[in-house]
Amino acid sequence: MKIGIVGAGLGGLLAGALLSKENEVVIYEKLPIVGGRFTNIGYKGYQLTTGALHMIPHGANGYLAQLLKKAGCNIYIENSNPDGLFRINKKNHTYKNIFNLVGLKDKIKGLKMAANLKIGNVDKNISFGEFLEDIPLALDIGNSFTGWALSLNAYDTPMEEILKIAQNYYKFGGPGIPIGGCKGVIDELVRVIKNNNGKIITNYNVKRIEIDDNKGYINPEENEEEFDIIISNLSPKLTENLSNMKIIKEKVPIPSKGIKVSIGCREKLIEHNGVLFTPESERINGLNCPSNVDKNLAKEGYNLIMVHATQIKDNVKNEIDRVLSDIDNLFGENNIKDYEILHIQSYRDEIPVNHASNGTDLNPVVNNRFYLVGDGVKGKGGIEVEGVALSVLNAIEYINKRYN
Ligand SMILES: Cc1cc2nc3c(=O)[nH]c(=O)nc-3n(C[C@H](O)[C@H](O)[C@H](O)COP(=O)(O)OP(=O)(O)OC[C@H]3O[C@@H](n4cnc5c(N)ncnc54)[C@H](O)[C@@H]3O)c2cc1C
Repeated sequence: MKIGIVGAGLGGLLAGALLSKENEVVIYEKLPIVGGRFTNIGYKGYQLTTGALHMIPHGANGYLAQLLKKAGCNIYIENSNPDGLFRINKKNHTYKNIFNLVGLKDKIKGLKMAANLKIGNVDKNISFGEFLEDIPLALDIGNSFTGWALSLNAYDTPMEEILKIAQNYYKFGGPGIPIGGCKGVIDELVRVIKNNNGKIITNYNVKRIEIDDNKGYINPEENEEEFDIIISNLSPKLTENLSNMKIIKEKVPIPSKGIKVSIGCREKLIEHNGVLFTPESERINGLNCPSNVDKNLAKEGYNLIMVHATQIKDNVKNEIDRVLSDIDNLFGENNIKDYEILHIQSYRDEIPVNHASNGTDLNPVVNNRFYLVGDGVKGKGGIEVEGVALSVLNAIEYINKRYN
């Protein structure tokens, strides 16, 4: 079959790498570079990113790692150990230890909640915030987790999503960091697509997608190619605007907003390769230090620290000021003065953290000829790029059933 893919983000490239084994694939990308919100930007000797924090939510065993392997990519993902620590009362605590930070009554309640979550014995129709709110520390910890992982407040996170995320966590484990960071993954996908004779056309702005009963067309006024299948890696909203198909029906995808700060620092604020959650900070949800896994991600002799915060209020400048003040406090507590803010990025509207926040994702199948992949159509419980991988898995399973 001949397959046209619009957008060379992680979703488009992953679909392209898997489908180019047995099909003729052409990928059209608007920008001069590929990878979308999952690639590196070299700056002052550091490998900063266009979006992600160089972290794969379920590490070497999750959906993304499995699909990369299936596509034939050679990528080493180092699993985090510990997955995460929690900074409470100016000390870093393990997950197990945080139960000892509350009184006996709350400790028993908290352990019961954790056990019920593990076996799925919870009300699926409430939010994660409602599930946690009886114990103030649990709510703060929940907010730092959903803020870091989903760029959502716990009250905006459906319990159904948390249940599926917990299931995936117990099945696949916690996060990991790929060698080379995000671009390590993207470079491998490009290599595989080219090896399979797939084409990637950059600097190509797709303005129109037309689908009829027999074929699909990309920029039909100037491009004579006809496709059996078209896959859009753009947001559901943009895909609908560019195409002759109705995509958003009853369910409306709500983007998740966030702020990321990249920091260079000679001293080690974090010794491990997992997440340091910051439940007591006013805005920041957590930070990681990907150069603890791949030192080439930072300038020689320095560390790259990446901080993430959910954007809570609309005034972006105020939100950034609060994030910077949290960072100042955190480094101050550790007596570190010589850190350098390398880059501050805010994500919303057409370039958000996720095009659909968890729970508001659409179905990747529009019809037999037209599919979506990416973070507007993540599968249930798919955190970030694991959700992107699930979208690709779901679309390809449907295509295989329909056409093979
Ligand atoms: C601050 C931040 C931190 C994050 N941290 C993490 C993390 O640590 N771990 C994680 O797993 N995920 C993380 N994410 C989420 C992750 O980066 C995204 O979910 C993922 O990269 C989305 O990939 P995608 O393929 O859906 O879309 P995109 O990356 O947006 O790809 C879409 C592509 O389509 C192209 N395009 C757009 N319009 C057109 C057009 N008209 N014609 C042709 N091409 C077009 C774009 O240029 C782009 O290349 C983070 C995101 C942000 C913003």
